[in-house]
Amino acid sequence: MSKIAINKFNIITTQELLVHVSISSNKNGGFYKKLKLINHFKIRKQTMTRNSTEYYRENRQLKKTVYKCPHCDYKSYNSRMCLVNHINAKHINECDKPFQCRFCDRGFSQKAHLCVHCEKEHDVKINEGRIVSIAYIIKPTTQEPKSKKTKARRLYYKNNDVIKTTDLNNKKHEYLPDVFMKQHDIHYDARKGFITLHKCPLWKKK
Ligand SMILES: [Zn+2]
Ligand SMILES: [Zn+2]
Repeated sequence: MSKIAINKFNIITTQELLVHVSISSNKNGGFYKKLKLINHFKIRKQTMTRNSTEYYRENRQLKKTVYKCPHCDYKSYNSRMCLVNHINAKHINECDKPFQCRFCDRGFSQKAHLCVHCEKEHDVKINEGRIVSIAYIIKPTTQEPKSKKTKARRLYYKNNDVIKTTDLNNKKHEYLPDVFMKQHDIHYDARKGFITLHKCPLWKKK
């Protein structure tokens, strides 16, 4: 693999990245490999940043690297996390959001928003820094689902009765070959009465 060009900020620019990717993909071929390389260098680019605040300030001015939302016109010249937050906030159903309220059905894209909600709606003060994820404690009911997928999930719950939101986000629950459990599946099963559901917050150990 050829060496990556490094500019004065120790960061490869988008043009340099694209040149590099096209060289590499000519050698290896295949669109999939090209995509993988782009992702690889996006991460590489970030870890190579000497001073990220300085880099993003510079980037906002020069508009070198842009993170574009695949679902709408949103663009960000800030870090990739800004795009992730945007997608979580605008394009994901509440039940699929990473920070779930343990007292009601609401879900939030950012931990801080969950904390504000708990304090306002449930009069519970939560230390913002300490909740890591929510665990769903699941019990299948006697009600039998008809669809193949729902049946498979109901069976899966019998051996996996505690499911963490972080594991769902990292595709750790494969209930059928290549089919991964999502948060909205669990909420759906609960709504339809196939399972009973309790939410339990998981705290970071000190
Ligand atoms: Zn968007
Ligand atoms: Zn709530």
